Amino acid sequence: MIETTEIEQRVARTDALPAPLKPLERLAWNYWWSWAADGASIFRDLDSEIWEECEHNPRELLAKTSAYRLAEAATDPVYLERVSRVDQIFQSYMALSPHWQHQDKTITPEHPVAYFCAEFGVHTSLPLYSGGLGILAGDHLKSASDLGLPLVGIGLLYRYGYFRQRLRNDGWQEEHYGETYPNDLPIHLLKNADGSPLRIEVLIRERNVLAQVWRADVGRVPLYLLDTNIPENVETDRWVTGHLYGGDRETRIVQEMLLGIGGVRLLRKLGIAPSVFHLNEGHSAFLTLELAREMVQTEQQPFSGAIDKVRQQCVFTTHTPVAAGNDEFDASLVTRVFGPAYLKELGLTEEEFLSLGRVEPDNKTERYGLTPLAIRMCRSTNGVSQKHGEVSRALWQKLWPGKPLAEVPITYVTNGVHAPTWISPLLRYLLEKYVGQDWDTKLRDESVWAEAVARIPDAELWAAHVRLKERLVAFIRHRSLQSRITAGDSPDYIEAAKTMFDPAALTIGFARRVAGYKRWNLILTDRERLLKLINNEERPVQFVFAGKAHPQDEGSKSVLQQLAQWKYDPAVRQRAVFLEDYDQEIARQLVQSVDVWLNVPRRPQEASGTSGEKVAINGGLNFSILDGWWLEGYDGANGFAIGNGTNDGTVAEIDACDAESLYRTLEAGVVPLFYHRDGDGLPHNWIAMMKRSIQSLAPKYNSDRMVEDYARKIY
Ligand SMILES: *Cc1c(COP(=O)(O)O)cnc(C)c1O
Repeated sequence: MIETTEIEQRVARTDALPAPLKPLERLAWNYWWSWAADGASIFRDLDSEIWEECEHNPRELLAKTSAYRLAEAATDPVYLERVSRVDQIFQSYMALSPHWQHQDKTITPEHPVAYFCAEFGVHTSLPLYSGGLGILAGDHLKSASDLGLPLVGIGLLYRYGYFRQRLRNDGWQEEHYGETYPNDLPIHLLKNADGSPLRIEVLIRERNVLAQVWRADVGRVPLYLLDTNIPENVETDRWVTGHLYGGDRETRIVQEMLLGIGGVRLLRKLGIAPSVFHLNEGHSAFLTLELAREMVQTEQQPFSGAIDKVRQQCVFTTHTPVAAGNDEFDASLVTRVFGPAYLKELGLTEEEFLSLGRVEPDNKTERYGLTPLAIRMCRSTNGVSQKHGEVSRALWQKLWPGKPLAEVPITYVTNGVHAPTWISPLLRYLLEKYVGQDWDTKLRDESVWAEAVARIPDAELWAAHVRLKERLVAFIRHRSLQSRITAGDSPDYIEAAKTMFDPAALTIGFARRVAGYKRWNLILTDRERLLKLINNEERPVQFVFAGKAHPQDEGSKSVLQQLAQWKYDPAVRQRAVFLEDYDQEIARQLVQSVDVWLNVPRRPQEASGTSGEKVAINGGLNFSILDGWWLEGYDGANGFAIGNGTNDGTVAEIDACDAESLYRTLEAGVVPLFYHRDGDGLPHNWIAMMKRSIQSLAPKYNSDRMVEDYARKIY
C-alpha cells in the first residue's frame, strides 16, 4: 500500500554545511565522483560508518554527518586540499562541451542520442538495476560522458527496485524489498517554469497515467527517470514503477508502455530532438510506435509511410540469446492495455497493430513479441558479442524469409566495461604512474597498454594485488561476521568468521545470477575432487560466491541452498563463502581482488558477459567457457579456457565434459602456475599472464571502445 501523503524529505540538514565544505555538495549531486580518483574516499573519510550505513549515498552522508565531524573536516587543511583538487577536476570536466563529429554524422546536445533502458546500474546508491543489463547501461552513460558524446538516458525510477537477498539458516533464499526515497538521493525532480512538477501523461488501460520525472547526473550525461508514484494517480497506477521485474505480465507491459511512450513525450517536453533513439533491449520498443503516432498525427501520413522515417531514427540492441528470454505478451493483453484510442491515432486496425509484434504477421495464434517489433521498427539491430551476433542472426532469420543466414542484417558490438568505475584505486595508481595521469583517455590504444604494463616491475604489480586480496579477505570476514550475527548463529561460528580465508591462498571468484544456463552446480559435479582442491594443505584453493536466483526459480534456489549449506561444513567453511545480496559493491570488491574469475555458462547462452572484463582490467585471470566476450578475448596465453569449444552430445554429456575440463585445468594448470614461486618468492609466470591479460584485454573490452563503436557504426 502506497501512502497517499507526499513523499517527505527524510533527511534534511537544518544547519548548513560549513563554507569550506561547499564543494562536496556540488560533487554529491553528480555521480561523476563515483569514478573519479579520490572521489569516493573524500566522502567516506567524512564518516566511514555512515558511509557504509547509507550505502555510499553522498547526499545522505552529508545530511547525516554530525556538525562536529563536519567542523573537524572543515578545519583540516589536508582534507580540504583533497576536496578542492577533486572539485577542480570536476569543474574542468564539466566545462568541456560535448560534441561528436564522425564522417557525416553530427550528434549535438540539441540532437543527442536518446538511450532507453529498463534498468540503469550507475551506482550502488541508486538501486535501479538487477544485473548485467543495468550495469552495462550505466557504463554506457559514463563512457558517453567521458568521450563527449551527447547522450541522454531514459529509464524508470522504481520505488522498490529489485529484490534484496537474504539466506535463511538452511540456505533457502528469501527476498525482501528496500524502499527508495527519491528525496534522499542525489536526483532532482524536474519542474516547470512556474515551479510545479513537470509531468507527462500516457493513456494506459484507458486511464490517464501521470508520471513525474527525476534527473540523475552522470558526468555530462543526464539520466531521466519516470515515476508514477504521485497522488493524482489511482493506486494501481502508482505501482507501475513499483518494482523492477517484480510484477506480473500486465505490470511488465504497462511499465514498457510508460518507458517507451512516456519517454518520447518527455523528450518532446524538454525540447530535445534526438538524432537517434537507442533501444537497449526490447523493453523500450513501444517508443517506435509513439514516434509513428506523432508522424501520423502531425504530418497526416499513413502509418505505412511513417514506418520508414521511424526506422531511420531508431537502433536496437538485443541481449538475449535464447528465444524464451524475449519479452512476449498475449495479443488480448496488448490490445487491452493500449486501448482503441491509441490504435486509432496510429491509423491501424487491431490486426495490423498486432502483426507488428509477430514473426509471421498473419499468424493470429502468435504472441506479441517486443523483439520482432523492435527489429521491424529499427534500421539497425545488433547483438553484444561476435558470437551473439551470429546466434541472433540464426534466431531471427525467420523475420527475413528466404534470406540466407549470412545476409541477415544483424551485426554486433561487443560489450565493454567502464574502466575508471571498475578499476581498484591501487591499480589506477600504477597506471597513472606508468601510463600517465591521462591513462583513462588512452584506454583504447593497445600500444600504450602494451608498453606501459610491460614497464611495471613484477614485484610492484604483485604487491598491489596482494594488498587487494588482503582487503578482500577483510571484506569477506566483515560481511560474514555481520550476516552470522544477524542470523543468530552460534558464538563459535560467529567467532570463526574472524579467521576465515587466507590472503596467500589462490582465490577464485564466482558471482553471477543463479540461473540454469550459468551452471552453478557444474563445480559441484565431483565433490570429492573439489574438496581435495580446497583442502590441499600446501596449495589450497578458496572460493567466493555471490548471486541472486529469480524469486520464482525453485530449481536455482535449491542449487543455491546446496552451496550455502557448505557454510556449516567444517571441511570447507574457512575456505568457501557465499556473500549475500550480490550488488555493484560486492562486484567491485570481487573483481578488483580475486586471482581467478570462473565462468561456466552453457554455450552459446552467454550473450557477452562483462564481469570477467572487469576482472581483466584489474589483473585477475579469466578461467571460463569459450562463449560471449571470452570467445573473442582469449588468445591462449592471457587466461584459461574451459571445454573444447564444441557442442557435441547431449546436455548431460556436455556438462560432464566441461566439468572434467574444469577440474583438470584447475589441477594441472591454474593451481601449479599460481603456486610456483621463483627464487625471489614471486610467481613470475603467473604475473606474466596477469600482464598479458591486462595488455590484450583492457584496450578492447572497455566501454569507451564500445560506445565509440556504437557512435561510428550504429548511430
Ligand atoms: C558486472 C555485473 C554483472 C554482469 O555479470 P555477468 O555475469 O558477467 O553478466 C551483474 N551484476 C553485477 C552487480 C555486476 O556488477
